[in-house]
Amino acid sequence: MSSLIERDRASLWHPYAPASATLPLWAVEAADGVALRLRDEDGRIHEVLDAMSSWWSVIHGYRHPVLDAAAHRQVEHFSHVMFGGLTHQPAVELAERLAAMTPGNLERVFLADSGSISVEVALKLAVQFQTAKGRPKRQRFLTIRGGYHGDTFAAMGVCDPVDGMHSAFPGLLAKNVFAPRPPAAAKATPAAMEQWRADVERLASEHTDELAAIIVEPVLQGAGGMFAYPAECVRILREVANHHGLLLILDEIATGFGRTGELFAADHAGVTPDIMCVGKALTGGYLTLAATVCTAEVAKAVSGGGAGALLHGPTFMANPLACAVANASLGLLQEGTWRADVARVGAGLASGLTPALKLDGVTDVRTIGGVGVIELRDAVDVAAVTRTAVEHGVWVRPFRNLIYAMPPYISSAAEVQSIAEGMVAAAQGVQASDGVAA
Ligand SMILES: *Cc1c(COP(=O)(O)O)cnc(C)c1O
Repeated sequence: MSSLIERDRASLWHPYAPASATLPLWAVEAADGVALRLRDEDGRIHEVLDAMSSWWSVIHGYRHPVLDAAAHRQVEHFSHVMFGGLTHQPAVELAERLAAMTPGNLERVFLADSGSISVEVALKLAVQFQTAKGRPKRQRFLTIRGGYHGDTFAAMGVCDPVDGMHSAFPGLLAKNVFAPRPPAAAKATPAAMEQWRADVERLASEHTDELAAIIVEPVLQGAGGMFAYPAECVRILREVANHHGLLLILDEIATGFGRTGELFAADHAGVTPDIMCVGKALTGGYLTLAATVCTAEVAKAVSGGGAGALLHGPTFMANPLACAVANASLGLLQEGTWRADVARVGAGLASGLTPALKLDGVTDVRTIGGVGVIELRDAVDVAAVTRTAVEHGVWVRPFRNLIYAMPPYISSAAEVQSIAEGMVAAAQGVQASDGVAA
C-alpha cells in the first residue's frame, strides 16, 4: 500500500505548486489547540506548533469546544439550503453581528464562499454603484503596489502587478491604476508621506473619469510582503476617494478580527470604508466563508440602478453550517480576551525574534499586532526552511524572502517563545546553507 503522501502526489494539486514531487509534504494526523501532529515522508511523527494559524484563520486554535459544538448543533439541524428565496437564523444573526462589529455605518452584508469572491463582489458593487450614479465609464480601480486580493481574475487584477500573476495572464487582467507602495511604518518621514500623498492625488485626478473605487489592505499588506504602513495613509486614501467620488474598499480578509491589535485594521486609522471584505478568521478557520459589507448608501444606489440588483449569487451563499460556526467564533471574540491575547503573542514574537537581527542574511525583523516577520536578503529555500522549523517543533510556511508567524490567539507565552526559536533556527539554517554555497 502506498502512503497517503504518495497517493497525494499522484492525484492532487497544492497551492501555487506544480503537479510533481518537488516540495516536501507532511500528512496531518491530528490537530488540537495550537498543535499539529504531522507524519513525514519517512513515516516519522512530528509534534509541531502551528505558527500559521492555517493561513490567518484558526485564531481560537483547533478543535475548540465551542466551535465544535456549534458545528455539531447545526449539522443536526440542517447543513445547507439555497439562499435564493430562503433565509435562516445563522445567516441573519451573522449579518447583524458583522454590521455591529465593523466600523461606522457598514450594515448590508453579502455572504460569499471565499475571500476572493468577496473581493469580486466588492468590485462589482463599486462598478454598479458608479453606473447607478450615471458614471458608467468608471470601471477601473486605483490600488497601491504590493497588494494581494485573491486569485480570481478581477481580484488578481488589483494584486501587485509585478509580484502578482499578471505576467501569466496578460490578455485577461484589467488595466488598473497602481500608486506606489506607502512608506514603511518604521521609516515614514513627513517628506516621504507628502511625496506619497502627492503621487496618489495625481493618479486619482489623472484617472478620475475611469475610476470606480480605491481598494487596499489597510495598514498591513499580507501575502504581498507582510508590509506595515502608517494608518495615516488610510486616512489619505479616504480623503482622495471622497474628493474624486470614488468608493473606498478595504480588504480586511487577512487583517480582520483582531490580528493587527485592533478589531479591524481600519480602526487604527479611524476610517470607515464604503465597502469592507472579511474572510479567513471569520469561521475561526473551520469552514470557508467570507463577507462583503457595505453602507446603506451603496446598497441603495446599486439596488436602484439599471440592473435593479447586485449581480452575484453563489450556490453556497450563506452556507448555514459556516454561518453557525462564524457566529460562535465571533461570540468567542466578543466575550473573550483577544486584545490581551494578540498583545501577548506580539510581545513574545517581538522579543523572541530579536536574535535573528544578528544573523547575516537577515535584513529586518518586525512585528505588528500578532504577526511577526523575519525578512531576509534573498529568497528562502522553502523546503529547507520548513524542514528545519519542523525539526524544531514549529510549522511555518515561508514565501519569497520572508519567514513569518501569525500564531493562534490562544498561544501561551511559552508556545510563542518556542515558535520564535524555531523561526530563528530556520533563518540560521538559511544562513548556514548560504555559507556552504558561497
Ligand atoms: C487570503 C486573502 C484573500 C483571498 O481569500 P481566499 O479565501 O483565499 O480566496 C484576499 N485578500 C486578502 C488580503 C487575503 O489575505
